Amino acid sequence: MEITKKVYQLPPLRYGYGDLAPFLTEEQLTIHHTKHHAAYVAGANAALDKLEKARKEGVDADQKAIAKELSFNVGGYMLHKKFWENLAPAGKAGGSPGGRLGDELNKEFGSFERFKKEFTQVATSVEGSGWAALTYCMGVERPMIMQIEKHNVNVNPGHKILMVLDVWEHAYDLDYKNLRPKYVEAFWNNVNWDDVQKKFEEIVKK
Ligand code: MN
Repeated sequence: MEITKKVYQLPPLRYGYGDLAPFLTEEQLTIHHTKHHAAYVAGANAALDKLEKARKEGVDADQKAIAKELSFNVGGYMLHKKFWENLAPAGKAGGSPGGRLGDELNKEFGSFERFKKEFTQVATSVEGSGWAALTYCMGVERPMIMQIEKHNVNVNPGHKILMVLDVWEHAYDLDYKNLRPKYVEAFWNNVNWDDVQKKFEEIVKK
C-alpha cells in the first residue's frame, strides 16, 4: 500500500491582493505570493521528491545538497507564511501592541519606539537578501531581534519567530525601486499586532 505523506502547499492570504495598499500594491503582493512564495513551496517539494525517488529506487541521494535545498526552501516557505499572517489591511493594523507582548517589549527595549528603531536598523542593514525577525528566546525568555540572511542563515534555533519583515528586493522593488528604508518605514502601518500577540501567547503558554 502506498503511504500518503503531506507536502508543502501555498497558504492562501487572509486578505485580498489589493488590501495592503499603499504599503504594497496589488501587483507587488500578487507576484510576491503567487510567484516567489510559490517557488519556495515547489522547491521544498522538489527536494522531498528527490529523497522519495532515491528511497524507492534503493539508491543514494546527494544528502548534503538536498539538506541545503530543504533549509533554503522550507525557510522561504515558512517565513513567507508568517509574513502574510503578520500583515493586515490598514485600519486593522499598525500602532503598537498592548498586553503581555507590549509589556515584554517595553521591559526589553525600554520603549516601543526603541524596539521599532532597532528592528528598522536590523532590517535595513541586511546584506543582500534576508529578513528581520522579532523573536522570543526560549533560553532566557526575552524578546530579541534576529537578522536572517537569505531564508536560513543566522537563524538561531532557540529563538521562536513572532514577526518577520521580508527585505529581499523582490518584496519591494516594484513599489519602492531600490528604496528599502521607505518600504521598512511603511511596513509599520500594516503590522497585525493581534497576530503577533497570538504567536507570542502560543509560545509562552507552552
Ligand atoms: Mn519574499
